[in-house]
Amino acid sequence: MPEEVAVDMSIVLMGPPGAGKGTQAAVLERRTGRKHVASGDLFRAHMIKGTELGQQARSFVDRGELVPDEVVINMILQRAKEPDCQNGVIFDGFPRTRKQAKALMEGLRAQGEELGAVVLLAVPRDVLLKRIAGRQTCELCQTPYNIFYTPPRLEAICDLCGGNLYTRTDDSMQTARHRLDVYARDTFPLIEFFRDLGLLREVDAVGDVDAVIDLVTEAAALPTVSSGQTGSVA
Ligand code: ADP
Ligand code: ZN
Repeated sequence: MPEEVAVDMSIVLMGPPGAGKGTQAAVLERRTGRKHVASGDLFRAHMIKGTELGQQARSFVDRGELVPDEVVINMILQRAKEPDCQNGVIFDGFPRTRKQAKALMEGLRAQGEELGAVVLLAVPRDVLLKRIAGRQTCELCQTPYNIFYTPPRLEAICDLCGGNLYTRTDDSMQTARHRLDVYARDTFPLIEFFRDLGLLREVDAVGDVDAVIDLVTEAAALPTVSSGQTGSVA
């Protein structure tokens, strides 16, 4: 059993592209009252708005390369200071390098917090490619779908908010393969880093979404809140 973690603690969801981090994080946010903060979603929002940050990030994101550490670190640590993050954060897609991991832990410590757990979603490569190629995302609320596994009720329309679904430009087979290689090279070593710190909890994420969610919630060891209640239960 994982040890209990304090009520306002943040966690990291780790795993390769296509592992289902966004899907799991959205449910975990509702269950635990922690704020879901996804670096990829933030970049895409900046790219759509055409901000300077979005322009800086675009070429990296579209090629499936990592955005430079300083850019990501600043963006995420600032986001994590906002009021809706005060009950803790579910970090998704961050950290992806050792430098980012160290910056995150220092940033949290500076606010008097510690990282509670790092939940690793484990999925083999062949499954990942199919998941990525079938992926569609709501342009309004970012809810992820998969045309093979979890299709929307109406084609290309979000079940939750009615927004249009789009396919990410970096979800082509070729770019997806490259993102998996980048993950293996730059992010995979973080598994060892977090394991050495005693923070790593590995979850088999191949099963259906509901089964995986239960495993992830248990691994995250965060107290759940009833719907509507977002505060901590201290
Ligand atoms: P996925 O995990 O499915 O590859 P994300 O939405 O998390 O997708 O990220 C999309 C892209 O955004 C990445 O391929 C990368 O270019 C950029 N990105 C996201 N998070 C980071 C990060 N922590 N460091 C560097 N680049 C990042
Ligand atoms: Zn939506």
